[in-house]
Parts: sequence; C-alpha cells; structure tokens
Amino acid sequence: MASIELSLTEEQRALRAGVLEICKRYPGEYWRDLDTRREYPEKFVTELTEAGYLAALIPQEYGGAGLGIREGGLILETINYSGGNAGACHAQMYIMGTVLRHGSEAQKREYLPKIATGALRLQAFGVTEPNSGSDTTKLQTIAIRKGDRYVVNGQKIFISRVLQSDLMLLLARTTPVDQVKRKTDGLSVFLIDIRGLKGFEVRPLRMMMNHSTNALFFDNVEIPATSLIGQEGKGFSYILDGMNAERILVASDSLGDARWFTDKAVAYSNQRVIFGKPIGSNQGVQFPIAKAHIATDAAQLMRDKAAALFDAGQPCGGEANMAKYLGAEAAWEAGNACIDCHGGYGYAEEYDVERKFRECRLYKTAPVNNNLVLAYVGEHVLGMPRSY
Ligand SMILES: Cc1cc2nc3c(=O)[nH]c(=O)nc-3n(C[C@H](O)[C@H](O)[C@H](O)COP(=O)(O)OP(=O)(O)OC[C@H]3O[C@@H](n4cnc5c(N)ncnc54)[C@H](O)[C@@H]3O)c2cc1C
Repeated sequence: MASIELSLTEEQRALRAGVLEICKRYPGEYWRDLDTRREYPEKFVTELTEAGYLAALIPQEYGGAGLGIREGGLILETINYSGGNAGACHAQMYIMGTVLRHGSEAQKREYLPKIATGALRLQAFGVTEPNSGSDTTKLQTIAIRKGDRYVVNGQKIFISRVLQSDLMLLLARTTPVDQVKRKTDGLSVFLIDIRGLKGFEVRPLRMMMNHSTNALFFDNVEIPATSLIGQEGKGFSYILDGMNAERILVASDSLGDARWFTDKAVAYSNQRVIFGKPIGSNQGVQFPIAKAHIATDAAQLMRDKAAALFDAGQPCGGEANMAKYLGAEAAWEAGNACIDCHGGYGYAEEYDVERKFRECRLYKTAPVNNNLVLAYVGEHVLGMPRSY
C-alpha cells in the first residue's frame, strides 16, 4: 500500500541540500541575464548533470540514480524555490521515461547511459502542431516507412530546447487518420538524432518567458527505421503512459515557484513601511499571501499523494492531474499576491518577481491546459460525460 510521508527522509533532505548548494551559485542575476537574452541555462544544466541530478529517474543499471518520482519532484521544486527555472530539468526527467518504458533493450543500452552522463542531451519532445493543438490525435506530421528508413513531413509548434538537445522524441502519424479504426491508432513515437538532420528546420520563437521554444519544419526528413520506439501505431498509448509522471513533475515546479513567491512576499511586506506601519499588517496585503500559502500546502499534499501512488506502482491519474492543476493555480495565486504587495517594485526586473510571474504562468497552459485537466477529472474521476 502507498502511504504519504509528511516529512522528508534523511536521504531526501540530503538530496535537497545538495541541489540547493548548486542553486546558490546561480542567483537571480544569472537567471535575469539569461531571461533578457532568451538564452538556455547551459552552465546550470551542465553542473546539475555532472552532479547526477538530471539522471535521478534513470535506473542504476543504465547509469542513473534510480530514484522515485518524489525525489525527481524534490529536485525541481528546490530549483524553482531557489529562484531558478527548472524547465529544462523536468523535460529531461519525463521525456526519457518513454524510452525507458517502451524502448528496446538495445535503445536503452545505447542512449540512457549517455543521457545520464550528459554525453547526449534529450530535452526535446515534439508533439504540438499548429492545426491540432490540444487535440493530439489530429496531428498531421506524417512518417512513411521506405525500406530501412522513415520519411517525415510536417510541422510542429512551440517545441522547446530543440537547439540545445542532441536527441528529440517525435510523435508522428504512420497511418493516416482515415485508415485507422480508432483515431488514437496509427501514431508512432521516434527517438531521433537531430544533429545535422537534412530537411529539418528549426525557427526560434520569442516567447513571454525564457523557454528556448521553436517552430519545426520537416521536409522529406529521413530517419533510420531503428529510431521507432516500441510498435508502430502504438505511440499515443506510450505518450499517455508518461503523462502521470509529467503532471507530478510539473506540479513540483509550480510548488517551488509558489513557495518562492510566498517567502518573497512575506519578507517584503514585513519590512516595507507605508503609512507608518509594515504593509503586511494590513489585511488587504496579508490575507492574499495567507490564502496562497494555504493553496500551496494543499497542492503539496496532493502532489505527495500522487507521487506516493506513482512510486508504489498504483493508479494515480486523478491525483496526478489534480496535483498539476492545484500546483499551477497555487503558484499563480502566490505570484499575484507577491506582485501586488511589491507595488511598483513587483514590475522592476531586478526584483525577479515579474520574471518568476511570467515563468509560473506557463504551467496553467502547458504541457496540458488546466481546462483539459478539469475535463479529465469530470470524465474519469467523477464519471460525467466527456465534455469535448
Ligand atoms: C513556452 C511553451 C513551451 C512549450 N513546449 C512544448 C514542447 O516542448 N513540446 C510540445 O509538444 N508542446 C509544447 N508546448 C505546447 C503546449 O503544450 C500547448 O500550447 C498546449 O498543449 C495547448 O495547445 P494549443 O496552444 O494549441 O492550444 P489549443 O489546443 O488551441 O487550446 C487553446 C485554449 O483553449 C482551451 N481549450 C481547448 N480545448 C478545450 C476543451 N476541450 N475544453 C475546454 N477548453 C479547451 C484551453 O484553455 C486552451 O488553453 C509549449 C507551449 C509553450 C507556451
């Protein structure tokens, strides 16, 4: 039976302390500078990789630490709590999960040890397309088998860290939608080496936050047939399999953000004196911060429950989705309370509040928007009719 631990074990406390130690070397100035230039946190990611933290979820036999999702989440939460942005780190943790669960032994032996050491980077996951958006089964990128290769044509939008990765996981149609029984059939997952790939174009997009996000174009791109993960046509179910891990990890990013905002808001409200008293003594300032703290603690309990179920190998779809929803909403609530109590200073770049405010907003929309989480809970947890 899964059970939720209310306090961290000694090993988990040591893990958090180790990550915090690294994060201290990457203060607000580091992230602010990268944000202005929209540059990838190369130095930070390299240091975390060399220290083994990004291989936390890779089993020991493939060179990783073989830790659970709770520990993976703790790493991400700690990075965001320290003022950083764990986007690249959460991506690496959940993208490799598809290879681990559905890749062949040869693929796992070839790639996972190199991903663990950082010799190869897999932080790109190509799903979203301009014409299908959240309706993944309608995606139009097509991969046609020709002998020992597949030829890929199509485009993707909002795909992050492609220019910083050596490998990308790609979801494409291998059988046209009008030739399959169920629309979820006929999609396949490929692990492709994107270095110097002919016919593959990457166009960076300047987004609201620093996320290394791109539009991708595939023009008769040839990839080896050996890059197929698992069985052809079963890709959608492989992607679904990884979603609970992704939701729990993203919830952890949000929890770190929420706690960063709350700490920052409390510290500022206690020391800023206006009308002869600290602004934090006004209920109008104090209560939104207290409410955000309550929302964060509640979200953490749900994340811990989801992680405990996940690590015990039990079903956790409802809990993982609810954790992602509660975490994203708590961070957004805390972000608003933090920017409000800072007055004009909340908008000044040097305080980092506006940067974190932009960064935390993403998780209400991606990797899945909170409306679709509500639709999941309505349908799968409450047994209501499918709403879409
Ligand atoms: C910075 C950033 C990085 C990203 N990185 C990646 C990446 O690396 N790889 C990748 O594949 N994708 C990535 N995405 C894409 C992201 O996952 C999608 O933007 C998201 O899934 C929503 O798809 P969409 O933008 O097409 O919105 P749409 O599907 O067009 O939906 C728009 C809005 O309509 C609402 N909506 C849609 N359908 C319903 C419904 N049935 N019921 C109720 N409301 C609904 C939702 O509120 C939704 O936000 C990234 C996005 C951003 C912004």
